[in-house]
Amino acid sequence: MHIRLDEVAAPVVRRSDVVVVGGGPAGVSAAVAAARRGASVTLVERYSALGGLASGGMVLVLDDMVNGEEITVTGVVAEYIDRLATMGLAVYPPKADRYASPAMWAKWARWGAYDFHSHTNPKPICYAVAFDPDGWKRVSNDLVRESGVHLRLHSWFSRPVVRDGVLRGVVCETKAGPQAVLGDVVIDTTGDIDVASRAGADHVHDRYLVTLVFRLGGVDTATAERFEQEHPKEARAINRTVKRMLGGAWELWWLKTPLPGVVWCNCPHLTGYDGADPESLTAAEFDARSRIASAVEYVREVLPGFADSYVLDVAEQMGVRQTRLLTGEYVVTKDDVVTRRHFTDTVCRGRDYYTPYRALLPRNVEQLLVAGRHYSATPDAQRMSREIPPCMAMGQAAGIAAALAVDAGTPVRDVPVAAIRAGMRAQGADPGDVPSANATVDELSEVPA
Ligand SMILES: Cc1cc2nc3c(=O)[nH]c(=O)nc-3n(C[C@H](O)[C@H](O)[C@H](O)COP(=O)(O)OP(=O)(O)OC[C@H]3O[C@@H](n4cnc5c(N)ncnc54)[C@H](O)[C@@H]3O)c2cc1C
Repeated sequence: MHIRLDEVAAPVVRRSDVVVVGGGPAGVSAAVAAARRGASVTLVERYSALGGLASGGMVLVLDDMVNGEEITVTGVVAEYIDRLATMGLAVYPPKADRYASPAMWAKWARWGAYDFHSHTNPKPICYAVAFDPDGWKRVSNDLVRESGVHLRLHSWFSRPVVRDGVLRGVVCETKAGPQAVLGDVVIDTTGDIDVASRAGADHVHDRYLVTLVFRLGGVDTATAERFEQEHPKEARAINRTVKRMLGGAWELWWLKTPLPGVVWCNCPHLTGYDGADPESLTAAEFDARSRIASAVEYVREVLPGFADSYVLDVAEQMGVRQTRLLTGEYVVTKDDVVTRRHFTDTVCRGRDYYTPYRALLPRNVEQLLVAGRHYSATPDAQRMSREIPPCMAMGQAAGIAAALAVDAGTPVRDVPVAAIRAGMRAQGADPGDVPSANATVDELSEVPA
């Protein structure tokens, strides 16, 4: 059964060249990049702070940004890392410790700084960055403020403003009632293509693991690591039990953070839930919290170093990896990611793969760009290409493209790729225009940009 809603009358609270919806890693990058390229920008975010999964979701390691020893994702993400490191809120292995020797595993694995794509044992230590979620919020605020972005928190996008097939802005639900924010270009960085899907863009709806991340305080990490090294068999047995109780976790269920005695737990991994369905998300919250409680009780009893541990916090938002994905002008496939296919219209890169501009462009809605984990990819390709740094690179490319379109008075789909690439370089970001030695450059890639 459906009920029909009346048209809403929403006051126009803001007009700007570019409207970015969703203040996660991709959204902040898009907003900052567009503002730095000269556009007036409004950024709307449903929650009380910026950062998305990197803060509210407490996803606390930046990875997937190296191709061998080359750092492939630069730009806004690198600024975050520098600023967080200056605040003492980011930790990563120095160059000398990366790919050096198996001995580095003992020193760096518990920071999550290892190449999880490698099949060697132990996996090589690589450039990846452990950071603090509140630090991420503060740096986001600073970047947004310094670049002149107009920020509206507590504003939940609810419907697009479409006139004659062209997106003209968005309506947000707020405590003050519905409010309209208008712009020449809208960038959807909600993670679930809330804007694009409601504006009628083609998409698919899939699902993947969801995870309610938590942190423990009061952990004696040195004792825990010593136990692991001195009693590997017992440590492995405890590890297996914890993972069973949690219902799943990656290889290491706890990792160190920049705060002494505080560890983050990228678990429990839960299957069968839909991250875009409130009923399903409610059930996942309950399931996750009871699993966390039992696992913490168990480790307090049996795991050396965890006797005095306590739940410091549980992420404010469920860790949703995948829901709706855009079916854009090009749909990136698993084969593209695995073979590192390079495209004529590549505008950014992830670990060792490339993103074409067409994967940020919806097919049937004008003046809309999409960036972040919901970009145009098949579900299996998205699972391999949606970490925080590549999402930020997509955001930066989309922000630059939007500002260029406004500047030239052209539709976003007509922005020259060469100009986006030049804009990326000018902002210190790698547009992936030069294919690396292990990339695939074939006739499939040579679709006219
Ligand atoms: C549990 C888990 C572990 C992960 N582990 C890692 C890892 O170790 N390293 C790594 O690099 N990546 C990891 N990832 C992937 C990574 O966190 C995400 O893919 C990345 O954060 C996506 O960024 P985004 O900006 O596209 O989306 P999000 O981070 O989801 O941000 C979307 C933003 O839009 C806002 N928003 C949504 N809907 C609306 C609306 N209707 N109105 C207004 N605002 C809205 C949200 O509040 C949020 O701020 C992990 C993901 C999960 C879930």
